[in-house]
Amino acid sequence: MIDVQQLTKTYHDTVAVNEVSFSVKEGQTLVLLGTSGSGKTTTLRMLNRLTEPTSGKIFIDNKNILSQPPEELRRNMGYVLQGYGLFPHYSVAENIAVVPKLLKWPKEKIRKRVDELLYKLQLPPEQYRDVYPATLSGGQKQRVGLARALATDPPILLMDEPFGALDMLTRFAVRKEFKELDELRKKTIILVTHDVQEAFELGDKIGLMDKGKIRQLASPPELIFRPADDFVKAFFKQHLFQLQWQSIRLKNIWNDLPEAGNDVNATLSGGHTLWEAMEQLANNNASVYVIDKETRLRREVTFEHLKMAIQKQKQQN
Ligand code: ADP
Ligand code: MG
Repeated sequence: MIDVQQLTKTYHDTVAVNEVSFSVKEGQTLVLLGTSGSGKTTTLRMLNRLTEPTSGKIFIDNKNILSQPPEELRRNMGYVLQGYGLFPHYSVAENIAVVPKLLKWPKEKIRKRVDELLYKLQLPPEQYRDVYPATLSGGQKQRVGLARALATDPPILLMDEPFGALDMLTRFAVRKEFKELDELRKKTIILVTHDVQEAFELGDKIGLMDKGKIRQLASPPELIFRPADDFVKAFFKQHLFQLQWQSIRLKNIWNDLPEAGNDVNATLSGGHTLWEAMEQLANNNASVYVIDKETRLRREVTFEHLKMAIQKQKQQN
């Protein structure tokens, strides 16, 4: 769906982005992970043509976007700006309505869509529609920024450190809600973050960036168990144990799990990580069950299964 080839941006003598290439399939989430200044924001801005590339190509659905008018392009892309980026003199509803207004949607359609999004994002419309951003908490501003990006239901969502300005606890809670939001289920997402935990929680693939280059682009378990070089290895060293458990999802080990009876309440789904399963096991000290959302089949998970899955990954080196 999105195909980026040797994208480069130079400012005078700074190479902000250096021959970056990647592709993202429809419905997948790519996370660009890296420390401050590694070129994440510049890469994202080029995708939306807020910044024009120095060289390189960007294809969306096989169309070269650099020969398309930017307005047309942005219609198909929601953009969540770094640090909320809400307009302070616009109410919540007006902030969310920015793009629909540009597209000249009828008033009634805009009002309905704004209320629908507020409702889905747990901001009761009657209470929040007409207030100004300054009166909102960080978590609420984050949701308004997300609602604005989702307003026209674009198939692609670009998100620049969407949880970056939140404190640790709020981040965690908002991210959990984010994963469960039905509006996001079919979206193709490119998300930028400096937070390793966040990258592993949300990414189908992660591109680890450094000094404008992608050092490795891979699935979470590949990055952790098969790092491309010493840089990648060193980058994850500090959290290695936890990341091993966070890089694998229950759906990846489904075939190694025994069937469970129908009388149990499933507590986890295939999208949960081994780390989350371990937390459940530690808290419940009873059995934990995984349910396949499509077939409704259930399987049992024990600590032994989790350990075996980790061993298996290590042996594949
Ligand atoms: P990140 O989002 O990963 O923190 P950025 O993409 O914002 O990194 O920046 C990458 C590099 O490009 C940095 O060295 C930054 O100073 C430089 N840079 C970004 N935007 C500009 C600009 N408009 N003019 C000059 N240098 C810039
Ligand atoms: Mg940035």
